[in-house]
Amino acid sequence: VTSQLTSAGLLRTQGLIGGKWVDAYDGKTIKVYNPATGEPIADIPCMGGNETNDAISSAYDAYRSWSKTTASERSKLLRKWYDLLMAHKEELAQLITLEQGKPLKESIAEVNYGAAFIEFSAEEAKRVYGDIIPPPLSDRRIFVLKQPVGVVGAITPWNFPLAMITRKVGPALACGCTAVVKPSELTPLTALAAAELSIEAGIPAGVLNVVMGNAPDIGDALLASTQVRKITFTGSTAVGKKLMAGAAGTVKKVSLELGGNAPCIIFDDADLDVAVNGTVAAKFRNSGQTCVCANRILVQEGIYEKFANALVNAVQKMKVGDGFSEGVVQGPLINEAAVKKVESLIQDATSQGAKVILGGQRHSLGLTFYEPTVITDVKNEMRISREEVFGPVAPILRFKTEEEAIRIANDTNAGLGSYIFTNSVQRSWRVAEALEYGLVGVNEGVISTEVAPFGGVKQSGLGREGSKYGMDEYLEIKYVCLGNM
Ligand code: ADP
Repeated sequence: VTSQLTSAGLLRTQGLIGGKWVDAYDGKTIKVYNPATGEPIADIPCMGGNETNDAISSAYDAYRSWSKTTASERSKLLRKWYDLLMAHKEELAQLITLEQGKPLKESIAEVNYGAAFIEFSAEEAKRVYGDIIPPPLSDRRIFVLKQPVGVVGAITPWNFPLAMITRKVGPALACGCTAVVKPSELTPLTALAAAELSIEAGIPAGVLNVVMGNAPDIGDALLASTQVRKITFTGSTAVGKKLMAGAAGTVKKVSLELGGNAPCIIFDDADLDVAVNGTVAAKFRNSGQTCVCANRILVQEGIYEKFANALVNAVQKMKVGDGFSEGVVQGPLINEAAVKKVESLIQDATSQGAKVILGGQRHSLGLTFYEPTVITDVKNEMRISREEVFGPVAPILRFKTEEEAIRIANDTNAGLGSYIFTNSVQRSWRVAEALEYGLVGVNEGVISTEVAPFGGVKQSGLGREGSKYGMDEYLEIKYVCLGNM
């Protein structure tokens, strides 16, 4: 795989600062591993504050000219970048599977999904409209301008090595901002390949910079800089809170997409096949490692046994293995720590009366592979219901009434993804309105798309990504009053 990637020119292992590929200034490196085999794939620079400050300076310099380009120019360059991402779909997907572990088919889907944010941003660049407001005094005119916020610092996680970057960088660049991106050190290669394609597309030097290495040092440099006007982050709630607090020092605009605790509510009146397929999709995508993965499956008592059995049947059929192997739908977890967390949550749940009805062990493949698991008799007070599982474990809880389901679903500090399965239109609306979540899938388990706003309420975050709303995160509003006319 790596030789194919090298010949495609996409295996980049340096940071990108001001259009130049650079090592860490002190020459230090860290290793990137294939989670399916434990083998090292590449050495990447272990950068820190100095490199980050230079990347910020480059972005700040580039901002002067980039922010003055026409929307049409930015649109054309983004469109070219999109075309190149799609032209290199296979290689990018291989990189994703190599460093992140997800099955190749899911990686292809991620490239389509991730690239779509660039395409959408290219289109939306041309539609950043201002406003004209009727004035309160007849000798005045009131105008509203929308202008780019400035240099953006973007910090992204490992579970979607491409899409978490494009959904930030696409709208940022479309609005006229420049960016310093810090991908996860676990999955930097996809980010670097995408950056290489941005250069080929003709996006000017300094508009997109990529640094990686010592995450807290890089984060601190981004937060301390008065030139960085916006921080956008996807990752854990704990780090998100730190960044929000750190951004206060220079009062930056902040967007956060943090952890979820998605309820997936199956009502008695649901279509069983639709509910099972939707739940499997919502729970087991990327082996349960997405922030909108179903975390608590709430099943009404009348359909409880039937649903649990049908879910076991479906989950049993899922093939576990290396993401490059034919037919595999469940890859490894990202690392050993992720497996240990799953083990400890299951141990805690079973010690309090939950029952494992499928799986519940490390997979015979060893390393970071875990068996797809279904457990019943889970209670909302257990750790497995309070924390994000981020693994291939489906915990089933029982409820009696619609009111009880809503109460349990909302009894968490998180509020990102949620799902309901019912054949009643009235109930769909009632429950969708009552759920304290940013996204609700009704009879659908996978709903994220570049055309719709994605984001959380409560401690799941601030702001939205994708859609026309995602553009606002990178724009400032300016009121201009023309007086004494
Ligand atoms: P996850 O559980 O998804 O790895 P993290 O919040 O730990 O979530 O990581 C998300 C991103 O945040 C990664 O790029 C990681 O390197 C980065 N990160 C972790 N700690 C910090 C920090 N103190 N400051 C800035 N970025 C950080």
